[in-house]
Amino acid sequence: MKQFQFIYENQNQFHEELIKIRQWQKTHITFCTIFQIFSELLNQDILSAICQIIEKELPEALYAGCSTNGNIMDGCVETKIVVVCTMTEYPSTQIELVQFPLNARNAVAVVQKIIAMVEKRPWVKAIEMLVTIRGMSMTDFCEELGKLPEQIKVFGGGAFSSDMDNEACVFSKNGNYSTEAAVFLMMGGEDLHLTTMHLTGWKPLGKKFLVTRAEGSILYELDGKPAYDAYYKYLNIRNDEHFFSNTLEFPFFYEHNGLNILRAPIASNADGSLTMTSDIEENVVARIAYGDPWTILEHIRRSGHKIQEFQPDLIRVYSCAARRTFWGMDEVSKETQPFQSIAPTSGFYTSGEFLRTNGYVNQHNVTLVIAAVREGEPAFSESLEFKMHEEQFSGKVSMINRLATFIEAATEELEEANKKLEFMAVSDGLTQLYNRREIERRIKLKLRESTRHPEKPLCLIMLDIDDFKQVNDIYGHKEGDNVIIGLSSLLRKGIPEHNPDVAVGRWGGEEFMLLVPYPLEYAKKAAEHIRQDFESILFKSGVGHRTISVGVTRLIPGEDSDAFCIRVDKALYQAKETGKNRVVVL
Ligand code: GH3
Ligand code: MG
Ligand code: MG
Repeated sequence: MKQFQFIYENQNQFHEELIKIRQWQKTHITFCTIFQIFSELLNQDILSAICQIIEKELPEALYAGCSTNGNIMDGCVETKIVVVCTMTEYPSTQIELVQFPLNARNAVAVVQKIIAMVEKRPWVKAIEMLVTIRGMSMTDFCEELGKLPEQIKVFGGGAFSSDMDNEACVFSKNGNYSTEAAVFLMMGGEDLHLTTMHLTGWKPLGKKFLVTRAEGSILYELDGKPAYDAYYKYLNIRNDEHFFSNTLEFPFFYEHNGLNILRAPIASNADGSLTMTSDIEENVVARIAYGDPWTILEHIRRSGHKIQEFQPDLIRVYSCAARRTFWGMDEVSKETQPFQSIAPTSGFYTSGEFLRTNGYVNQHNVTLVIAAVREGEPAFSESLEFKMHEEQFSGKVSMINRLATFIEAATEELEEANKKLEFMAVSDGLTQLYNRREIERRIKLKLRESTRHPEKPLCLIMLDIDDFKQVNDIYGHKEGDNVIIGLSSLLRKGIPEHNPDVAVGRWGGEEFMLLVPYPLEYAKKAAEHIRQDFESILFKSGVGHRTISVGVTRLIPGEDSDAFCIRVDKALYQAKETGKNRVVVL
């Protein structure tokens, strides 16, 4: 593949550039020619003129373009209009483009059309997209794209504009300038190879929040509190004119389709909610992430070496407009320019980056999506090296990176300690079963639930070791403990793990309580099994076989937990009174 990249100055200059390309084509073998036009200017007249000149000078060539928040040419940020002309050098490589109107109502139907087209074109290996997003929810669009055959790569970017409030447009040889449309570039053929990746460089900071309320791109609540509070409390970011640039350094990280993706707040609203860069899900754990130049460049370095191994002919970068704001105009090229040392690198600053990973198509924010393209096998003779300038990247770990690591590690330790404390607060030391307070709490909880679902059965089983005092008196306290542990292991084995409907706890010394979601008959059978199993255990040191007495009862709708527990205790008492080592149902 061969590529020319240049800045569009005016019609005459553009004309001359096309003539140069035509001349070049006469002495080289090329097959398909495609122009990609990335324009910070939303000027329909200029963009139409560019299209017309291409139609006239190179009528066979394809072209597609969009408005942007800045362009990437030769790996560096460029304003105004950038033209990228790519020519294929293998006859097997195919490129085809389509443009469809796109809006919230037809997004799924549009993708279905693309899927139908791909079915008829077995050569397709990848689809590059230029999309006008403009605040539209892209969740369904992305989900539908995930239905494309597994091996097809999908990547692209959301059109944007230099002032982020303005409209965005796409256009192509297959459709007119439009502010509500998507251009799909299908590419493939046996000699075309692609590799894609995404990278952010943003690092999560310990604290976890549960997204308790979100709708589309509005994040209402974190941990049941207005989302804005988190930014104020943890980062001291005020709701003023700097909100966007301040929060940009701290977007949210959350797991979506098995990946960590970023969402940045773009505005805070009067009700304490935040408008995010795109849709955020409810019930996910989100963490605030921090962006710092060193960590980002370290990620770039690692990714650059991977791309270098692929030996691409060209590299396309879709970078979030937020990254341009984050770095500033003077520095933003630091993260894209190194790629130019491997292959011609072009792209633009987007309103959302799309990439298919593990089958799912995700809409990213604050992310760099990179697609590297090559025709034929890698030319190992060329020794390209991914270069990062010394002054760009000193290699010395930044202070903020160390602090982020510190916060992350300290939070992890605290979470671990909290988990231990939580476990200790609810469990009994000797048996590791729930303690009395916890089993009582769970009984009350289940009782409340059962008033909503009276059809669900609920039973209590209460057990007490027979003549246990003897064990202590004859064999000692330690042997007594062993008997208690023996019974508790038996009880633990019998409960399905992680079933929140079953609870077993130590009620007192050698008394245990089991809460089971079974009908009475079944609970009685379970109790009988436990009785027999316990009796068959042979305890060491002469303790021998021991027995238990068991009481069983079912919940009578409307009664409180005291009444429920008193009845099971009575059943147990009757078992003791009528000779022990038996199950009594009341
Ligand atoms: P019954 O058949 O009527 O239940 O008679 P019992 O001897 O089992 O009942 P009793 O309530 O008279 O005795 C229970 C004993 O359990 C008294 C107490 O010292 C002992 N005990 C309570 N907790 C523990 C413990 O954690 N370890 C040991 N080894 N003994 C305990
Ligand atoms: Mg006893
Ligand atoms: Mg007892």
